[in-house]
Amino acid sequence: MDAINNVLFPGGRLLGIEWNVWKAIGWTGNAVFFSRFFVQWWVTEKRKQVVVPAIFWWLSLVGSLCLLAYALFYRKDSVFIFAYAFTWIPYIRNLVIHHRHKNAHVLCSDCAANCAPGSNFCFNCGHPLLALVAEEAGTKE
Ligand SMILES: [Zn+2]
Repeated sequence: MDAINNVLFPGGRLLGIEWNVWKAIGWTGNAVFFSRFFVQWWVTEKRKQVVVPAIFWWLSLVGSLCLLAYALFYRKDSVFIFAYAFTWIPYIRNLVIHHRHKNAHVLCSDCAANCAPGSNFCFNCGHPLLALVAEEAGTKE
């Protein structure tokens, strides 16, 4: 028990860190930002192709904003502030593009499968999708 205490609480502090609210925000930012690599890796392994899921951009955004707040209000270090001052721009842009792409998917009226944008037929059941059905209806009139 003493060995565990010496590892976890060296000098009587958790992990030897002098904790305060900003340290907690900074370390939360580090943990969230670092976790995105494992999430992206896990999704890529699961699908057997390189995938960057929307959660990756959310973790990037939240982690970098925590680190920016830590840099701005606690460290007040120009190098640290600049490192995180603009990273939120591509993260938000990627989230917007991801959202638009997701909304552009076509729902199959037959089996409710979520089909890729621009699909003419359902990948799951082969049912013609709304765009094609509407197009055919237009030519018949
Ligand atoms: Zn279908």
